[in-house]
Amino acid sequence: MGNKYTILIAEDENSISSIMQMVFKANNYNVQIASSGSQAMMMISSYCPDLVILDLGLPDMDGVEIIRSVREWTSIPIIVVSARTHERDKVEALDLGADDYITKPFGTAELLARVRTELRHKNSFSSNSPQMQHGVLSIGKMVIDYDKRHVYVDGRDANLTQNEYKIVSLLAKYAGKVLTYDFIIKNIWGPNMKCDNQILRVNMANIRRKLEDNPGEPVYIFTEIGVGYRMAEFTGVNNEKSL
Ligand code: CA
Repeated sequence: MGNKYTILIAEDENSISSIMQMVFKANNYNVQIASSGSQAMMMISSYCPDLVILDLGLPDMDGVEIIRSVREWTSIPIIVVSARTHERDKVEALDLGADDYITKPFGTAELLARVRTELRHKNSFSSNSPQMQHGVLSIGKMVIDYDKRHVYVDGRDANLTQNEYKIVSLLAKYAGKVLTYDFIIKNIWGPNMKCDNQILRVNMANIRRKLEDNPGEPVYIFTEIGVGYRMAEFTGVNNEKSL
């Protein structure tokens, strides 16, 4: 098969990289493995994989430096897989341009789901073009009507404010991906807005009250504690090459 996706695993622990390799190969991906940061950088630039799984704790350099450097020249999806569980590590990696973050130990189903999400986004959006969203998007009982700039739940208008609508459509654009507080705030209120999570929390509480049957157990927008928010992956549209 000539149209398989190629995943580069940058990981220095053989036991982990071989398990991931097995899982990815079983799901019809090509796999490359780099066991150091310099090797990973060389392979990204030479072999142009479709996606990178990046361990932050590599022997020769910090994975964060790899993200910083790779992002200077490519928007290739990067999923950080790390034993570091501090929120600030996740936020730093995401704000530097990592696309998602998985904490070790992780389940293989979760890993595969995150990879599918990133590859879907890679195909749907070219990284720098302005995002024109048209038509309608359904996630469960929620419908976003981009032309009318309204969101409906169960056929009822949720009566979102302008900013609430913008937040929901931003999260929907990246459905399945975690967006950091800072990313959302700068997108909605502009690049000069100081990162003030409180204003976002207030908006999110209102959004949940309007969208969710039970705001305490949301099904549309999930909280990534200390990091940001993630919208449920929508179903229906599927342009994956493999699986
Ligand atoms: Ca490591």
